[in-house]
Amino acid sequence: YPKMKLFDITVSTMNMQETVEYLTEAVRARTPHQVITANPIMMMAALEDPAYKAMMQQAELIVPDGTGVVWAASRLGSPVKERVAGYDLLHELLRKGEPHGWKVYLLGAEPDVVHTAAARIREMYPGIQLVGERDGYFKDEEDAEVIADIREKQPDLLFVARSAKNQEPWIGKYKNELQVPVMMGVGGSFDVIAG
Ligand code: UDP
Repeated sequence: YPKMKLFDITVSTMNMQETVEYLTEAVRARTPHQVITANPIMMMAALEDPAYKAMMQQAELIVPDGTGVVWAASRLGSPVKERVAGYDLLHELLRKGEPHGWKVYLLGAEPDVVHTAAARIREMYPGIQLVGERDGYFKDEEDAEVIADIREKQPDLLFVARSAKNQEPWIGKYKNELQVPVMMGVGGSFDVIAG
């Protein structure tokens, strides 16, 4: 896929439609992809924290979320076609997956928020199979149990809403165990969907 380098990090220059097609192929092939919708805060975290940078360098797909990343790319001579915002990509993937009955797992936010977000997604995308939901306030000691539940449910899409500080490193750490085709941090998206 078309890509560029931004501070030693590979960022996709695909537009939204191309990104959705690319990830649809990942779902078909069942190959695990950590998808990061990069904003300037995450790029700064990568510059300051070697572990965060390594995690980003190992991510299977980074798309330019914030307009700041789009701007920086243009300044560095690699124009990206458009911003691919995490919130929009979340909805586009649900829309794409609906006729295929894709399985979706929601992990993150407060218990009532994730529950309401799940109910809203069921209303908006009836073809989607919501196979699991869990709040984002669990301890590291509970990781194994959380992972076991996700593995058992075998989702096509795993959305993790636990703030960029936690969600991306968490996915990076466990992506090989999780074996989900699309694993993506979505920040405050469940709160937005829950309203
Ligand atoms: N969140 C969570 N567990 C945490 C921290 C945050 O589930 O340990 C959730 C929080 O409830 C919200 C989302 O992550 O739904 C985004 O949180 P916040 O806005 O604090 O994160 P940011 O992306 O702004 O860093």
